[in-house]
Amino acid sequence: MPLVDSFGRVHTNLRISVTDRCNIRCFYCMPDENIRFKPRSELLTFEELARLASVAAGLGINKLRLTGGEPLVRAGLHQLVRVLAAIPGVEDIALTTNGILLAEQAQALRDAGLQRLNISLDGLSEATFQRIARREGLQRVIDGIFAARRAGFERIRLNAVAIRGITEPEIVPLAGFAREHGFELRFIEFMPLDAEQHWQSEQVLSGEEIRRLLEAAFGELIPADRPDPSQPATDYDFADGVGRIGFINPVTQSFCGDCNRLRVTAEGQIRNCLFSIEEWDARALLRGGASDEQIAALLHASVGAKKAGHGINSDEFLRPARAMYQIGG
Ligand code: SAM
Ligand code: SF4
Repeated sequence: MPLVDSFGRVHTNLRISVTDRCNIRCFYCMPDENIRFKPRSELLTFEELARLASVAAGLGINKLRLTGGEPLVRAGLHQLVRVLAAIPGVEDIALTTNGILLAEQAQALRDAGLQRLNISLDGLSEATFQRIARREGLQRVIDGIFAARRAGFERIRLNAVAIRGITEPEIVPLAGFAREHGFELRFIEFMPLDAEQHWQSEQVLSGEEIRRLLEAAFGELIPADRPDPSQPATDYDFADGVGRIGFINPVTQSFCGDCNRLRVTAEGQIRNCLFSIEEWDARALLRGGASDEQIAALLHASVGAKKAGHGINSDEFLRPARAMYQIGG
């Protein structure tokens, strides 16, 4: 039985958070200090994650994305990739990373079967990096990006969270860098998932505004084909044919109508939306001797309860108790 919600959306995509820990402290995601990370014993083991993924694959999940926190701080991540890649029905495994530890791990991940990489890069100046990440590290990220290319990753996507007052001077240099080196670049609108709860709608630099700034610098952007309607980004090609740019606009242009994503937090809670306030406890089942059928029923229950959309812009919007690093972006 495929995972179809009450709005007919078929779920084929599972985002797996492997840790809530991180080696930097982006202000739009984590607190700077006094963080209470989950003890190791509460995180799903690789065996538990593989079992969950395999039950999900039996229900039609064919794409997996590993995320966190920072997934590369979880020791031996390539071993998990290898196990997930062998699950029948899993066609695609991707990873979202901040890139700091990528230079050391890119080859092992590639050899284990990782197919695609999204690397977060919010700007090209160390000052912007430190303002956002509250730690040093831009050069390590850049080194990680090129190490990934040398390791054989063909499609590398760079993701930049766009924040008014910070991102504007980075837009054209980021696009130039992506065009020069053949990386796809996507701008993501700042969502109300920061741990310190400072988000304000005025800080959202919309995809539309960025598109206009890019057109002023590079000429017309031409809408690209949209082979997969569930993809969150709206993509454009540069008029000279060099490069592609995407906009993920969850705040100003919600794409919930085509959502096919389900999430599991590092400690095994199933979430049917980034913004859901309800969770389904897969860890209790995995550790309590449950059958595959019981785990499948839990996934169905979560998908069945999915709402039509996140409602960020509605007066009734309630922020989830968890911040981005505790959910898995
Ligand atoms: N640590 C990895 C990284 O930064 O790529 C993976 C986890 S991170 C939570 C996943 C993605 O979510 C990153 O691209 C990050 O920039 C983005 N993100 C985090 N907080 C966000 C927020 N409040 N609004 C929009 N995107 C956010
Ligand atoms: Fe860490 Fe990624 Fe969150 Fe930044 S966005 S603090 S890199 S988990």
